[in-house]
Amino acid sequence: MKSRKKIYEGKAKILYKGPEPNTLIQYFKDDATAFNNKKKAQIPGKGVLNNFISELLMTRLKDINIPNHFVKRINMREQLIRKLEIIPIEIVVRNIATGSLVKRLGIKEGKVLSRPIIEFYLKNDKLDDPIISEEHIIAFEWALPNELEEIISLSYRINDFLTGYFFSLNIRLVDFKLEYGRLWKNDEVSIILADEISPDNCRLWDLKTNKKLDKDRFRQDLGEVDKAYKEVAYRLGVLSESEFKKVIKSDL
Ligand code: ADP
Ligand code: UDP
Repeated sequence: MKSRKKIYEGKAKILYKGPEPNTLIQYFKDDATAFNNKKKAQIPGKGVLNNFISELLMTRLKDINIPNHFVKRINMREQLIRKLEIIPIEIVVRNIATGSLVKRLGIKEGKVLSRPIIEFYLKNDKLDDPIISEEHIIAFEWALPNELEEIISLSYRINDFLTGYFFSLNIRLVDFKLEYGRLWKNDEVSIILADEISPDNCRLWDLKTNKKLDKDRFRQDLGEVDKAYKEVAYRLGVLSESEFKKVIKSDL
């Protein structure tokens, strides 16, 4: 592989300098982490699957005019994206109670919420990504009021669309995490969806059996993590089993 300038290496991805100004190459690793990096493992093929899954979902979102950073997939593990100024907030959208919501508020596991809930967390590993309010975001200027309004409106639209999309594949979209960034054009700034949408940052349950098809299989030691990610990729139609096997043989 040609040597390229590494801009950043995170827990699940690497960002390289892109071929044109204001672009980056996003490389998807097989590394899996949970509980803020305390639990780590390699899931062979995860990066490939997330690259394809995120490509498909970002493309569908672009089709309904949700602006996002995805430009094109370059190869099995890499995609070209627009470089953004990331807003340091994780936006979590929830449709069904589970995870930290259940622990924090004592809500019954699996309760279908009467309306989706949006929560905000500060992107700060040292502080364990603490939950924050809209007041914090505005007061500490992590985003401007109009930016936050846009983030909330886009997040509800994304949730409505993805809920229906996954439902048609017999998958329940339980909750998920989004990130946004700013794109500057002269003096104008727009809010753009960033990062990835994949079983790493969505909770996906089989509609009939409630089988978990996401990173909770890793977090909770449920086994067959790779099989669950493949199942999502197959249902989305991004990669057939035989294509995946071929890819993995040449990739590993
Ligand atoms: P982490 O940083 O939490 O360990 P990753 O390993 O997924 O997470 O790293 C990807 C990093 O790239 C994240 O910090 C994310 O905010 C950042 N990022 C995602 N999309 C873009 C983009 N379009 N422009 C700049 N940075 C981005
Ligand atoms: N999530 C994520 N990254 C994080 C924290 C959460 O992608 O750093 C996702 C997670 O996969 C789930 C949703 O956000 O789909 C809500 O997570 P929750 O707060 O319940 O997190 P937990 O503490 O259970 O991981």
